Amino acid sequence: MTFNELGLDHELLKAIETLGFVQPSPIQEKAIPVLLSGERDFVGLAQTGTGKTAAFGLPLLQQLDIFNPTVQGIILCPTRELCMQITKDLQVFAKYKGAVHIVPVYGGVSISNQIRDLKRGAHIVVATPGRLLDHIERGTIKLNTVRFAILDEADEMLNMGFQDDINDILSQTTKDKHVWLFSATMPKEVEQIARKYMNNPERITIGKVNATAENLEHQFCVVSAKDMNKVLARFIDYYPEMYGILFCRTKRDTQELANKLMKDGYNVDALHGDLSQQQRDTVMNRFRTRNIQMLIATDVAARGIDVNDVTHVLHLNLPDDSENYTHRSGRTARAGKSGISLVIINSRETGKLRSLEGRIGKKFKKVMVPTGKEICEKQLFSLIDSINNAEVDEAAVATYMHKVFTEFEKFSKEELIKRLISVEFNRYLKLYGKAPDLNLSDSGKNGDRRDKREGTQDRSEVSNELFINVGAMDVNDKSGFLAFLCDVSGVSGRDIGRINLKDSYSFFGVEDVEAANKIIKSLNGEEIEGRKIRVEFSGGAGSGNSGNSNNKGGGGFKSKGRGFDKSKQRSGGRDFNRSSGTKKNYSRGR
Ligand code: AMP
Repeated sequence: MTFNELGLDHELLKAIETLGFVQPSPIQEKAIPVLLSGERDFVGLAQTGTGKTAAFGLPLLQQLDIFNPTVQGIILCPTRELCMQITKDLQVFAKYKGAVHIVPVYGGVSISNQIRDLKRGAHIVVATPGRLLDHIERGTIKLNTVRFAILDEADEMLNMGFQDDINDILSQTTKDKHVWLFSATMPKEVEQIARKYMNNPERITIGKVNATAENLEHQFCVVSAKDMNKVLARFIDYYPEMYGILFCRTKRDTQELANKLMKDGYNVDALHGDLSQQQRDTVMNRFRTRNIQMLIATDVAARGIDVNDVTHVLHLNLPDDSENYTHRSGRTARAGKSGISLVIINSRETGKLRSLEGRIGKKFKKVMVPTGKEICEKQLFSLIDSINNAEVDEAAVATYMHKVFTEFEKFSKEELIKRLISVEFNRYLKLYGKAPDLNLSDSGKNGDRRDKREGTQDRSEVSNELFINVGAMDVNDKSGFLAFLCDVSGVSGRDIGRINLKDSYSFFGVEDVEAANKIIKSLNGEEIEGRKIRVEFSGGAGSGNSGNSNNKGGGGFKSKGRGFDKSKQRSGGRDFNRSSGTKKNYSRGR
């Protein structure tokens, strides 16, 4: 099928041709004819990067009356990034259509410039929900003339807490408008919006719902929590051409990891919610222009990142739910390109990984952490490649060649090549010449070649489960709990394993003995909601501390013997009642 056959008008076809789009993508092929008819509500399930913007943008532009200066289309999207991207794409599509006014409105910037732009007239408003409501309340945008309301990345908007705003907005539009909803996944909240505001919508699914792109390879490797940073550095070194995004669970982890890698000479930077908008823009620009090889981001900060050609999405530990995973990995393998999504997990997460496989309907392929030798080889060949492919500016170097030849006269060809290679290669030899194997088996056992000196037990084989008298009544959810633990104790989110959140208490795994002791030390005796916090080793079957005489973790292990009675807790044997009515919002820490 060609764009010509979809029913698009001459001006739009001309713009598409200028863009170099030869063939419609599957979502465009299916959505454009339906949306051009202007008669149906529409639900399109497709991943990011599949060409959704053109799928709704072209039919919207074709149905605009540009001589009517009122707002005829609103496009809601989750982030400022995406808002700007959609506006830019639509402006390009509308290039031959005359004066189409497309105005982006998003939060985090002064509203007065947006009011000025709106006053000049807008046919289409592209908006983040909160800021659109702000404009509606000020009377600077009126929705009574809107004929098309488009929700892009609906699941992301709901994930980000925009449900009420979207309801508010849609309930203010007229009955005879059409709603076009696009989403990568179809959780029940999105289904509710479809049921409430749409009239017998045409539904189109591209690929498998809640799944990820076909050309995306899902990989995992199992390592000890304490080795995660080293493992990550190895993967970066093993893929010199990597252009990636790495996801961490908390802002603190994100920044700490970025600092560490930058210090070690890696070309990375952090993107998280503690940065100012200006700082985030700077980081994003550097990433887009490839001045940064890898962005280290939290889920929230990375929402709506729309950068093509990302080769790898890496995850330090698994995200909290499968939809987050889908969104994270959807940042690569865009627009028909291939990509790798690699999760670096500890042995306790293998169960969670299996359940993720079930939910997304994809198998993860086990990969090994590259050995030092493999990295050295890869780097060597990459170096040879760059020498082979180097462009030589004959005129520029000619001036210096005589002197260069004189300097190198004393070397044979072999000697000169060896030296040339060593200039770059020595760094990797030094780093990896004697590096140990960092692989663990799925059950947490070390790789074959691991250095087992001193007979010490690898910490990752020790399973530490802690009990704490803080639960769902104190924090919003598991993320909030994690943020609370990290904030108060100062440990990294990566040290925290599975969280079992009960109402008034919780159990959680801690990968590292030192981290467990740090948590016990820093949290015991602190207060939450007027109660004294109590945290200790759970003493249950999950605890691997008993009798571990090699353990260098210090006094913390003794607490195992304190005989905390889990069953008593579970049966409510102690009074963990809340002393105050307010739930502490710890979910913001992510
Ligand atoms: P989107 O999902 O709209 O963000 O599009 C992802 C990328 O694919 C963007 O860079 C688009 O410019 C590009 N794209 C969209 N449609 C096509 C097409 N039919 N042919 C080639 N590239 C496309």
